[in-house]
Amino acid sequence: MQICRDKGAMRDWRSPGGRVALVPTMGALHDGHLSLVAHARRWLDTQGGGRVVTSIFVNPTQFGPNEDLATYPRDEENDIALLEQAGCDAVFLPTVADIYRPGAQTVVEVTDLSRMLMGRLRPGHFRGVATVVTKLFNIVRPDAAAFGEKDYQQLAVIRQMVADLDMPVEILPVPTVREADGLAMSSRNRRLSPGERAAAPVLNRALDQAQRMVAEGAGLSATRAALRRIIGAEPLADIRSIDIRDAATLSRIAMIQAPVVILLAVRFGDVLLIDQRVAHPKGAPDVR
Ligand code: AMP
Repeated sequence: MQICRDKGAMRDWRSPGGRVALVPTMGALHDGHLSLVAHARRWLDTQGGGRVVTSIFVNPTQFGPNEDLATYPRDEENDIALLEQAGCDAVFLPTVADIYRPGAQTVVEVTDLSRMLMGRLRPGHFRGVATVVTKLFNIVRPDAAAFGEKDYQQLAVIRQMVADLDMPVEILPVPTVREADGLAMSSRNRRLSPGERAAAPVLNRALDQAQRMVAEGAGLSATRAALRRIIGAEPLADIRSIDIRDAATLSRIAMIQAPVVILLAVRFGDVLLIDQRVAHPKGAPDVR
């Protein structure tokens, strides 16, 4: 596996041509990230082959001033070993100085989608994401890029950006990979105390129940109340937001008639966890 530590090395690796699929990450890799690598590989196989590159970059511009940039987990040696085992062809590990030149003035902002939901809790977050993903696309020039459905709004922002700006990159959505007890894998899970870790699967249990209720015809307020009741019964869970939105557009809905996405943001101690589930009311067509 080729290790590229700056833009120049990355461009050199890219230059022979052929198809390339990119997996953008912030490192501290787990099986969720490796599932993105596997999806990228499968997509390349359907296209006659190519190379997979994973980027590892803890992007400062997507963290707010009081967020966990300084304490975000970093584990480069282990990440490289995991990617090697997963059959990734290259890893891009740029420094902050290499990605952000002093004096840069340009940002990419997907306006409406970035201001709602997590964008309200984390102002500027999706502008940081859209800007760095654009830069990664310009450096790597991938034919496809894989993103997890776990970060549902991020996936929606990237899809909107690619469509709006005619970026020639196919976006590959990847289902959420979970621990055996249902907790969505996340680099942040390792910062949970043992008690918080034991409490956190309540998110998946609440989503399971809400998904069943929607399938059986429950309305918005009953579904929201059930989510609040189940998560609220867990003393270590501090609910930051519970949203039920149109699964395709993320817009607000007055009633559940088409597939919805249930989006949770819940703190355990000082760790903010997110999780999501698409739920289909009886008889509704699929979102995709
Ligand atoms: P991160 O390193 O947290 O920025 O995540 C990098 C990519 O991996 C994003 O596209 C995430 O949505 C995706 N991802 C993170 N956790 C999971 C998971 N448990 N299952 C699938 N994809 C994930």
